[in-house]
Amino acid sequence: MNNKLFFTLIVSGLILFQACNTPAGQGDEIDDKVEALLAQMTLEEKVGQMNQYNGFYDVTGPAPAEGDAKHKYEHIKNGWVGSMLNVRGAAEVRKMQALAVDSSRLGIPMIFGFDVIHGHKTLSPIPLAEAASWDLAAIEKSARIAAIEASAEGINWTFAPMVDISRDARWGRVMEGAGEDTYLGSKIGVARVNGFQGDDLSANNTIAACAKHFAGYGFAEAGMDYNTVDVGMATYYNVIFPPFKAAVDEADVKTFMNSFNIVNAIPATANKHIQRDILKGDWGFKGYVISDWSSGREMIDHGYARDLKHVAELAANAGSDMDMESYAYVNHLADLVREGKVNEGVVDDAVRRILRVKYELGLFDDPFKYCDEKREKELIYHADHMEAALDMAKRSIVLLKNENNILPLNKDKKIAVIGALADDKDSPLGNWRMAGEDNTAISVLEGLDNYGVKYKYAEGGKLITGPTAFPFELEVNTTDKSGIKEAVNLAKQSEVVVMVLGEHGLHSGEGRGRANLGLPGVQQELLEAVYKVNKNIVLVLMNGRPLTITWADEHVPAIVEAWQLGTQTGNAVTQVLYGEYNPSGKLPMTFPRHVGQVPIYYNQFRTGRPGPKHEVFWPHYMDESEKPLYPFGYGLSYTEFDYTNLKVNLKAKNQVEVSVSVTNIGSKAGEEVVQLYINDKVASIVRPVKELKGFEKIKLEPSQTTTVTFMLTDKELGFYNNQGEYLVEAGDFEVMVGTSSVSGLKDKFTLE
Ligand code: BGC
Repeated sequence: MNNKLFFTLIVSGLILFQACNTPAGQGDEIDDKVEALLAQMTLEEKVGQMNQYNGFYDVTGPAPAEGDAKHKYEHIKNGWVGSMLNVRGAAEVRKMQALAVDSSRLGIPMIFGFDVIHGHKTLSPIPLAEAASWDLAAIEKSARIAAIEASAEGINWTFAPMVDISRDARWGRVMEGAGEDTYLGSKIGVARVNGFQGDDLSANNTIAACAKHFAGYGFAEAGMDYNTVDVGMATYYNVIFPPFKAAVDEADVKTFMNSFNIVNAIPATANKHIQRDILKGDWGFKGYVISDWSSGREMIDHGYARDLKHVAELAANAGSDMDMESYAYVNHLADLVREGKVNEGVVDDAVRRILRVKYELGLFDDPFKYCDEKREKELIYHADHMEAALDMAKRSIVLLKNENNILPLNKDKKIAVIGALADDKDSPLGNWRMAGEDNTAISVLEGLDNYGVKYKYAEGGKLITGPTAFPFELEVNTTDKSGIKEAVNLAKQSEVVVMVLGEHGLHSGEGRGRANLGLPGVQQELLEAVYKVNKNIVLVLMNGRPLTITWADEHVPAIVEAWQLGTQTGNAVTQVLYGEYNPSGKLPMTFPRHVGQVPIYYNQFRTGRPGPKHEVFWPHYMDESEKPLYPFGYGLSYTEFDYTNLKVNLKAKNQVEVSVSVTNIGSKAGEEVVQLYINDKVASIVRPVKELKGFEKIKLEPSQTTTVTFMLTDKELGFYNNQGEYLVEAGDFEVMVGTSSVSGLKDKFTLE
């Protein structure tokens, strides 16, 4: 077949595919409507579509913009506001929308954005915790429910999912992502977008999603939020970009958010290469890009823009279509067009993209369809949502250690519960719960009560002191140790001590970097004091990031990673502790032994000195192991799984079938995440020691065996070179299938 014919066939196939997947004629119809509307718009009205205002402030107050005393209300009525964020509740959204629709010349509806990150009012586990479930169906459902509740409150666009890969547990925002791995992160990103956007974006219970932060934000140096990002192109193409590209290719994500950081020394917001060339060019993204909160204005502090007008010029030309909180476009973009510094075509392109999403959401058909107080009343905290949140929470728990089968507990055991977090109804909700109501989590103590467990409780010491209203710097209690004595006395009289320790709910999240990854405050001292009198400790961790719980791992017999599990926390923890649910989560991020090892992650590039054969001259420390405490993909169960019979078959060119048998050799039914890793032995750029390229979560009854089959194709076998070209190279590969990134059966194959 000649190339031209092949190309024609591919293109017609694509068109046919698109036609089949777009409701009859909708694509063209929307294009026509967008063009017709655009033709009627003044330059100021077009720029208005690119402007977003925040609703938290008094919108009748002056817009915080230079040289502009006009009120936000007036701006909306003038048609100078295309979007608002943080407007709360159906009634409030209705009020704002009415201003735009009834008072502006063209009546173009606004799009209302909100950070719907892990549930809306019914809170599901923080995203990192959900990622630990490796359960794509449950994760999609969780996002679906979030969209149902948020849309009932008038919201039609979420700034989620965050698909930033991060390898640095110090970075506070790891709680908001899917962890360190690109393959897992891509799958989870797609599941979340699908959950938010549903099958029909024009339905009143689906919302537009936003892949953020484009790109590299998760690589802030030293885990300090907003810090320099400086990574090579191999990492951009192979680690950072793929979850974003998957969101476009596989889930048709409607919007992107750029990021605060620089990419190759150019701020992402003004980075033409990643926004125009790669995203809108190479990947064919049809939606729009919003800046991050004032990331435009921050280019002045970066030393990249002279002033706000320069910001507008740089950002618009680079393809940042909507301005969040910099007020650069609303104040300067029209002038820049008149002065010839920004081509009107640039503005038209941005406006087309924004209008298209509004049409797809159905906002032009009924701008108020999302503002439905009746749905709001019916759906918020709906029983089905609560049940799904419980299911998601249980699936997110990771069993890290269980010596002598101390877990599951039985009700006859005399237990003590120790730790301020056990009695906390707020921390388990985690950060980024913008609509979530304070103190609405079922605490661990309440969970135990609900299950009819008799226990005695001691706080053991406050976790924090000082104010608890947002925003605040957490004042961690490091001085008041007066509660330890009572806790120790209680532990002495008990058979088992359940200690709920970890981080406050606002210890992670934006701007919440930590240079220490141990248990904050007096908790380590409390743990060690209790251990002295009672070694039967079950440590339940509540945290938003990996922690260096090395001492605990060396001493405490059982450790349960319970993250921040949202509304249903206490019930989920109890069901795992008492064996009503057999834990099945696996770590989506490596746990370091010591903060000095960070960044530590499983898929690092191969080095020239892989092992100790070079005596002291190989990558290791003199004063700490180079190994993680718990590796990526690790997690135990109350049963055991045996892997046998690994088979590798080359089915066709670049088609490798890998199968393995897994047997439940324990006495309880359980779920296992079967993980497949490959290593490309020799390649034209250095490749990682191993990379996850497949996983499947299976459920097995005792003695049951199943065969899991994976198919590796071009998509899994290749990589991007530094020019961004995707290559699948001939040569030898190693494959490992097993229960974590460090344990499994191994074999080899060769690509011709
Ligand atoms: C965050 C974004 C978020 C935005 C709006 C920013 O500070 O970086 O992720 O969507 O605020 O709340």
